[in-house]
Amino acid sequence: DTIGANLDRAVAAWPDREALVDVPSGRRWTYAEFASDIDQLAYALLACGVAKGDRVGIWAINCPEWVLVQYATARIGAVMVNINPAYRTHEVEYVLQQAGISVLFSSVAHKSSDYRAMVDQVRGKCPELREVVYIGDPSWEALLGRGTGDEPYPELSCDDPINIQYTSGTTGFPKGATLSHHNILNNGYFVGELIAYGEQDRVCIPVPFYHCFGMVMGNLAVTSHGACMVIPAPSFDPAATLKAVQQERCTSLYGVPTMFIAELNLPGFAGYDLSSLRTGIMAGSPCPVEVMKRVVAEMHMAEVSICYGMTETSPVSLQTRRDDDLEHRTGTVGRVLPHLEVKVVDPATGVTQPRGTAGELCTRGYSVMLGYWNEPGKTAEAIDAGRWMHTGDLAVMRGDGYVEIVGRIKDMIIRGGENIYPREIEEFLYTHPKIADVQVVGVPHERYGEEVLACVIPRDPADPLTLEELRAFCEDRLAHYKIPTLLQVMDSFPMTVSGKVRKIELRERAVRER
Ligand code: ATP
Ligand code: MG
Repeated sequence: DTIGANLDRAVAAWPDREALVDVPSGRRWTYAEFASDIDQLAYALLACGVAKGDRVGIWAINCPEWVLVQYATARIGAVMVNINPAYRTHEVEYVLQQAGISVLFSSVAHKSSDYRAMVDQVRGKCPELREVVYIGDPSWEALLGRGTGDEPYPELSCDDPINIQYTSGTTGFPKGATLSHHNILNNGYFVGELIAYGEQDRVCIPVPFYHCFGMVMGNLAVTSHGACMVIPAPSFDPAATLKAVQQERCTSLYGVPTMFIAELNLPGFAGYDLSSLRTGIMAGSPCPVEVMKRVVAEMHMAEVSICYGMTETSPVSLQTRRDDDLEHRTGTVGRVLPHLEVKVVDPATGVTQPRGTAGELCTRGYSVMLGYWNEPGKTAEAIDAGRWMHTGDLAVMRGDGYVEIVGRIKDMIIRGGENIYPREIEEFLYTHPKIADVQVVGVPHERYGEEVLACVIPRDPADPLTLEELRAFCEDRLAHYKIPTLLQVMDSFPMTVSGKVRKIELRERAVRER
């Protein structure tokens, strides 16, 4: 199916159900109203000369219009290009040029980001950019006024490219994954199916729409099952998120582990009524066991799903099921989704590893992207001749089919010939009472090749931990080569907007500060 055809079905089945709620502005849409606003925007884009295959950019914070642009571009077969709202002129100029964007939607301004001023700075350098429309500004109304409603919708195929999504840029420069209706709609549908979304579900989405987590596991998973999307705030705000759950009686809440940590540690956390929650999705990076226990017990999310995926695979390929126990929900990222395949291979030889042995995780099936936009070389490095996507993540498949993510190949530390997986050390250090958050990275060392550095955010900045205390804590409990020999106390970690720690930056800083 195309995204438009799927929406038509939703509207026919559930015209009066609520589809979308924007908590900051109090605006609400039923499925019928939602579809009618999408049509109005789609006609306007056609009237502006946007044709099938043309690139339409969106560089905006979370708001209902973001979702309308997503569905309106899908309706007319334009390729929506999601642009990270944290980008600044240098990066946005790159994306505008690289994707050849002709129409750009943007926010006017948010917090310290003056999008309009930044667009003005780069516009002259992007000859293909014909039109810029600001959300919440007269230019939006003016655009809508241009459609007559008679513009014919083009003929579409579900294999057409519909979306270019950039990866988080955790390990380097973001790459633009080109995705079809078939890729992302199916993925959203199956993720929602495994959570058993239905009419009663109201899903609080504090993760950015620009990222696949928001727009696929959020928007598409929710609308393809007739549930309701709830936008708590334009950008992540733990208090606004908990307030939205309480006020809208949400049944599901999304986030990367760092967002759940921020919510659980919010002063006044216990005062929010979160009893309506039953489920949610935690994804994007590994979840510490202690955090998962609190999410289940204190946020009532007994059925919370862990999802593993990547932008290039639409994104989800592994997911825990509703009735999985705590051990499977913390120790693994679940089992493969229906109609997809995963395997674990020896990264050097490509040979499939026996169950229980670590190797590179590979994914195959409907969810694998069409390719990186205009980068055939990078595409060929990532997708092999058998159509397997090589994820760059190390994993172990257990005997029961559940998959453990060991870490990223790029993050693995090799110290004096020993392979060290940072996650194992992080999980252990997380249990230290003085540590609020911790990241372990390898930094270059003359003798050992790499040395183990622990970057620690202390619970009490007035009483940070010392390297001696850290080493004493590990002594006799971790193998000697895994014990960090370097410690860096910090107030925060460098993060991507999708909520991941940029270990590459921690490493670079450590090297610079030597
Ligand atoms: P870039 O590719 O630009 O360096 P990125 O890989 O972080 O950035 P995304 O596509 O947003 O970009 O994220 C996919 C990656 O996130 C996966 O390859 C994996 O390393 C990590 N990841 C996703 N879900 C999980 C999870 N549940 N547990 C552990 N890691 C996860
Ligand atoms: Mg990646």
